Parts: sequence; structure tokens; C-alpha cells
Amino acid sequence: MISAKGYAAHNSREPLAPFAFERRELGPSDVHIDILYCGVCHSDIHQVRDEWGGSMYPIVPGHEIVGRVIDVGSSVKKFKKGDLAAIGCMVDSCRECENCRQGLEQYCKKGSVGTYNSYERDGKTPTYGGYSNKIVTHEYFVLRVPENLPLEGVAPLLCAGITTYSPLRYWKVGKGHRVGILGLGGLGHMAVKFAAAFGAEVTMLSTSPSKEADSKKLGAHKFVLTSNKDSTKILRGYFDFILDTVSAVHDHGMFLSMLNTNGTLIVVGVPPSPAQISEFSLIGNRRSIGGSLIGGIPETQEMLNFCGDFNIVSEVEVIPIKKINEAYERMLKGDVRYRFVIDMKTL
Ligand SMILES: [Zn+2]
Ligand SMILES: [Zn+2]
Repeated sequence: MISAKGYAAHNSREPLAPFAFERRELGPSDVHIDILYCGVCHSDIHQVRDEWGGSMYPIVPGHEIVGRVIDVGSSVKKFKKGDLAAIGCMVDSCRECENCRQGLEQYCKKGSVGTYNSYERDGKTPTYGGYSNKIVTHEYFVLRVPENLPLEGVAPLLCAGITTYSPLRYWKVGKGHRVGILGLGGLGHMAVKFAAAFGAEVTMLSTSPSKEADSKKLGAHKFVLTSNKDSTKILRGYFDFILDTVSAVHDHGMFLSMLNTNGTLIVVGVPPSPAQISEFSLIGNRRSIGGSLIGGIPETQEMLNFCGDFNIVSEVEVIPIKKINEAYERMLKGDVRYRFVIDMKTL
């Protein structure tokens, strides 16, 4: 076994603390990565605090991983020692079902294996995430990283990036479309960058006036304060798509009314209670609601390549790992622009 160290939660109430554990020996198809940066995702907090139920302790969170390959198994073709590499939200899947065969491993019929708080396909070995110094993963689930991008800004692309890139691509959002991005956080700021890069007219929909200047810097063409009833009224029937990244309770009806005929509300956030939706708001204008979960491995690679070509990275605040508990508190107050990333040298 390979000894590793990281930070773990041992139960839902106490802060994360240093933790020593083991990674598996390098198998023939495995890549051994020295982790350089790991992004801090809101779902880390949910799982550490068991807010979705079923958390399996100890948990080493982290699924926005960037590092350098230090060793490869005998049959690995995609990587060699010294290459940059990244791992996102999944480390395995059945690789045989109809979804896996199409590169949609996130929808694996047998269930994909989460990078942490999950079991390997043997059903008993826990997975540990990126708040750690090394990781061993099957080469299929390891992504290549363009050499021209700052690595700390690449880390959040592995979850926040692909979570917004994938639905925008699936619904073919681009030139000639009016897109509303709801919520300017880790997900929302990437959604603005991608939607603008795809050629759409992008409107930031936010409840905080302080985010107007930032959203324009990120590429939004317009900013609308959703707490102002007069300005939201002007948007009735305006958008072709709204990408909803908000994970707090909000008024879905108001946003559905902003969609044009055939418009789609795309959901990627998960509020703590189910949405209340009037069927009239859908049938009156043939509107739809759709949802999307991260993205498959081929599409995640496509996104990283796109980011390399168009120089797109996440806006980040780099922290030493001992500040992780403080960072969680700041995230809960919305006090981060727009993603914390742990510098793993500080471990
Ligand atoms: Zn995430
Ligand atoms: Zn599968």
C-alpha cells in the first residue's frame, strides 16, 4: 500500500483534522498523482456535515484535483511520469452499460464511484478525495491538463466547470440565444464565462448589487437584480435558457415566467426543499425544466481542452490547508470570489 496524508472529517460535527491513510498499490492501469491543488466545492461541506444523509466517516473530501504524475502502471498509455493530470468527481464506473459506452459515466446504470465518500467497485474499499497529498486512479478517469493554464485556476474546472459546461453544450447554447445565469458563485461564475465564450447574450440574475461589476468582468452583457420587481417584470418571456445554479430556496415560478416560448430552465443546484412549480407556467409557453449532473469523462476532457484554447480558468482564492475550516464558514456566508483552492504544498 502507498501511505498518504490529508485532512478528514471524522463525524458531522467536528472540524476537519489531519489524517493518515493508505492508497492502493499501483495496478497495471493506474496512475499515481502527486496532488498540487484541490478546489473546495459546496458539496464537500454538505457531505462532511452529513446534510445529504449516508456520509461514511472518515471523509477526506475534494473532487477538484490537479497534480503531476509520479508513477504509472505497466499498461498505462495515456500518461507518463511528469505529466500534468486532473481528477474530478468520479474515479470509476461499470464502463459497460449503455451510458458508460456513450461516455456518460456520471449516469452509469450501476452507479459511478465518487472520488470520496463512496466505495470502490468492490463495494467495500472507501474512496478518499483530494484534500490529500497523493491519489491512485485508473487512467480512464484521469484527465489531461493543458500546459498553458495556471493550475490553481484549473482545479475548480473539474466540478464547477464541467457542471456548467455540460448542460450548456447539451442544450446547444450559443450565438443568437439569450441566456440568464442564476446565482454568481462557484458554478455561476463558470457558467457566465462558458455561455459568453459560446457566443450567447448573457444576463446575470442575482440578488446582490455588489456582484454587478464582477459579473461584467467575467463576460456577462447584462445584470439584473432579481429582488427588484420592476426590473424582473421587463424580463417576462425574455430568455431562451436560464441556467439555475442556486442551492438556496428560490421562486422557480418567477424565473419560468422569464422564459420565452419553448424556453428551458436548466437546473444544476440542489436547494434543501423541492421546487414549487405551477404546471401553467410550463404549458402556457411549452416551457421545459431540465437537470444535469457534472459531465462524462470524454466531455470533461473536451472542456479542459476548450479552456486551454480560450484561456478560461476559475477565479480562485488559494488557501493553506490549515484554513479549510475557516474557508467552509466563509463559503456559507458567500464570502469567496469564487472558489477556494487548497495549495497542497501546505499539507
Ligand atoms: Zn463539486
Ligand atoms: Zn455504467
